[in-house]
Amino acid sequence: MGVSYSSLMTVSRHQAVTTVIVAPPEGLCLDFVNTRYWRGSPVPTDELTSFPPLLGWLKAKSGVDETLLKSADAQSKTEPAKAEDLLSEAISLREALHRLFAAAATDRPLLAADFIVVNSALAEAPPRRKLASADGGWEVSWSSVSMPALLASVLWSAADLLLARNDRRIRQCANEKCRFLFIDESKNGTRRWCDMSSCGNRAKARRHLLKKKQA
Ligand SMILES: [Zn+2]
Repeated sequence: MGVSYSSLMTVSRHQAVTTVIVAPPEGLCLDFVNTRYWRGSPVPTDELTSFPPLLGWLKAKSGVDETLLKSADAQSKTEPAKAEDLLSEAISLREALHRLFAAAATDRPLLAADFIVVNSALAEAPPRRKLASADGGWEVSWSSVSMPALLASVLWSAADLLLARNDRRIRQCANEKCRFLFIDESKNGTRRWCDMSSCGNRAKARRHLLKKKQA
């Protein structure tokens, strides 16, 4: 039985793997942005200093299928230069998302250049083909390890949150050294701090100290 040239090409160049990516929470894109934190301080802290921490973050947070992560891990060992490229594309996306959501949080205009970064990654992300009801996610198929495939769930959550931004309270932590981004889901919409046990308490302690000094 003969195999046509075109079907051979399909198999060798586009071996698609069908997997499930868990439907992301809306705030996943902000979690990704917050992998660089203390953004208001002279030296911010960055969790994504190399490719392995990016894979670690994806494994812990993104709901991306293990098969894709394992392929990415294997490929990063045989092609370290490609892993470097993937990391720098991921960082460019993260910084574009940071500028967009920080602007949304402070009522500043969202820049077209940042939309271009997000839209070109979205265009290459695996499409959400159908609901995988048993797994609570989206069935997708991908044929190669790429930044948009790895970050598909981040991209979907970013697109959903950008579209819904006028109906959500996107905030930046009031600690000017922190500047963590979050969605304020408090009843009265007055949450100011990323986390009361750190930034909020620090601010309270500072005010207390100031009052004592003035007294
Ligand atoms: Zn904070």
